[in-house]
Amino acid sequence: MEDLQSALKERNLTISTIAEKGRCLFATGDFYPGEVIISQEPYVCVPNNSGFDSRCDGCFLSSNLKKCSGCQVVWYCGSECQKSDWNLHRLECKILSRLDKDKRKSVTPSIRLMIKLYLRRKLQSEKVIPSTATDNYSLVEALVAHISDIDEKQLVLYAQMANLVKLILQWPEIKIKELAENFSKFACNAHTICDGELRPLGTGLYPVISIINHSCLPNSVLVFEGRSAVVRAVQHIAKGTEVMISYIETAGSTMTRQKALKEQYLFTCTCPRCIKVGQYDDIRESAILEGYRCKDEKCDGFLLRTSDDKGFECQQCGLLRDKEEIKKFATELKLLEDRALRPSPIANHQETISMYKMIERLQRKLFHPFSIALMQTREKVLKLLMELEDWRDALVYCKLTIPVYERVYLGFHPLLGLQYYSCGKLEWFLGETGEAIKWLSKAVDVLRITHGTNTPFMKDLLMNLEEARVEASYKRSSKDE
Ligand SMILES: [Zn+2]
Ligand SMILES: [Zn+2]
Ligand SMILES: [Zn+2]
Ligand SMILES: [Zn+2]
Repeated sequence: MEDLQSALKERNLTISTIAEKGRCLFATGDFYPGEVIISQEPYVCVPNNSGFDSRCDGCFLSSNLKKCSGCQVVWYCGSECQKSDWNLHRLECKILSRLDKDKRKSVTPSIRLMIKLYLRRKLQSEKVIPSTATDNYSLVEALVAHISDIDEKQLVLYAQMANLVKLILQWPEIKIKELAENFSKFACNAHTICDGELRPLGTGLYPVISIINHSCLPNSVLVFEGRSAVVRAVQHIAKGTEVMISYIETAGSTMTRQKALKEQYLFTCTCPRCIKVGQYDDIRESAILEGYRCKDEKCDGFLLRTSDDKGFECQQCGLLRDKEEIKKFATELKLLEDRALRPSPIANHQETISMYKMIERLQRKLFHPFSIALMQTREKVLKLLMELEDWRDALVYCKLTIPVYERVYLGFHPLLGLQYYSCGKLEWFLGETGEAIKWLSKAVDVLRITHGTNTPFMKDLLMNLEEARVEASYKRSSKDE
């Protein structure tokens, strides 16, 4: 701990323990938007490999993969990644190799993460792998497990997983109880490793990053550069302020956010957004994000339940929506959504798209224009249209999501920047250079703060913008001639 504090001191950071919150990371100097506060390599990590989708264990890329010839479980993109991982995989490979085919299938990413955790601990204690102030097992030991808050069913599941790990490792000295507690630690502390566009690639344990607490209105953001976790300031963080990131999707009413935090992270959030629960502003915001729309198509008022519980009243124009009418819509919507989710071997892409477009039309009549559900459906249609390379239609849906994104992802939020980026790319594909420049510039304004400017992803974005500018000036000059 002392070592860790002095390592953090050099970075203008310190850990303090606060009674109700536990450990907190505080800034001991000022940080400005875009500045890296802290970065860390994972203690252990695994790619989210499944039967269909595999990634290199070293770099998480998915091209040129070859299976490790020893265990036939782990993939590598080349000898460089294999070599850098060899100290640990040498042991893991032996363990995996002695399993029969069926048992090997039970080695899911979370089971592997646990196996790697124990192997790394062993190798560090034997000094095969060096330990440092920010890279040692005692940091893992210090993580919260919330074991007393976990329900019975989950505990049983952890115990089963613990048994499997014990069976695979065949180390008589490890205790099931400790293993189960470590699974609970993973659930509360492990991070999903994403690429620059926030698509999930794997899972990693970053015990120093895990000290950073949650806020629904965070002053920092966590992104990944390859496997390293990087925390950047998205606001000015004055000396003495606690550094905070968001653990969850922050778009959503206070109730939705609190539920997500309670379920996965087992705590009640008391951030500046959450303490407003029950106040007029918070009720209004919830009704906008998750409530119904006014009967008058031109009115954007929000609706609240009437005191006699017969329906919902627009708080702007006073129009009433009958409970039965809403119920009818909701039933119809549920039917459509169930149909869309049911896997059908004959449904093609086009049919799936028209199904979601139908859902979107229905949601537009039911929900407030800033509804999260409506935004998510549009997002779904957008993704499907992109896969079909229908750029024109995709752009329509992308633009429809922007006002909601700007409302729910305030300030420098990576999701907002990425949505601007999508609009820019689509305009570019359609040959609308001027519009492409407008959107790409907006994307750069946000993403250079959240992502920095040095990653391959950001270099691509900056190059796209540069290309668009060159093309625009070429178009202008050829018009002048
Ligand atoms: Zn690799
Ligand atoms: Zn192997
Ligand atoms: Zn909160
Ligand atoms: Zn109204």
